[in-house]
Amino acid sequence: MHRKAIVFFVFLLIDVHTGMGVQLSHSAALARLQGAGISLSSTGNCSNRNNRLCTSLENIRSETIDWLIHFKQTNNCPFVVTGGTETGHGRRTGVDSHWGGYKVDLRFNSCLNQFIERGSRTGQNSYFRYIGTSSYGPRYRSGSGAILLKESNHWDALWPANPVVNWGG
Ligand SMILES: [Zn+2]
Repeated sequence: MHRKAIVFFVFLLIDVHTGMGVQLSHSAALARLQGAGISLSSTGNCSNRNNRLCTSLENIRSETIDWLIHFKQTNNCPFVVTGGTETGHGRRTGVDSHWGGYKVDLRFNSCLNQFIERGSRTGQNSYFRYIGTSSYGPRYRSGSGAILLKESNHWDALWPANPVVNWGG
C-alpha cells in the first residue's frame, strides 16, 4: 500500500513536469466527441496528421477533449471541429500548440460566436472575458482558463497546459 502510494506520487510529479497528460488516438478521441454531439470536418476527408488537408485528433490530449465536451455542454451550440493535431498550423509543435494536442479549430456559427462574444468586453458574460487582440484576432478567456482566438474564418480554441482561472484578474 505504502509503495503504491509512492509510485503514484512519482507518476503525478512526472505528469506535472512534462505537462503531457494522456494522449488519445484519433479514433478514440473522435468517438468521445461524436458521443457528445460534436462533429469533425476535413477538407481532404482524411485524418493523417502529416497532411495539412486532413483533420486529425491523433495524439490529442485527453484534457483538451474533456474541456471541449464540457464547453459544448455549457451552450449546446453546433460544434464542428475543422482542425486538430495535423501539421500546417504554424511552426510551433510543443506546449499549447495544435501539433502538441492542446488546440482545436471550430467552425463559426452564430450560436457559438454570440456565446463567446456577447458581453465579453463589458464583463457581462458569465463565461468569457475579452483579453486583447493579437495579430491573428481578438482573444477571449473562459473562467476555466480556455483561450478562444477569433481568426478570420474559425475559432482557434486552446486548452492550455497551465490554465489561468477566473480571467486572472
Ligand atoms: Zn488553430
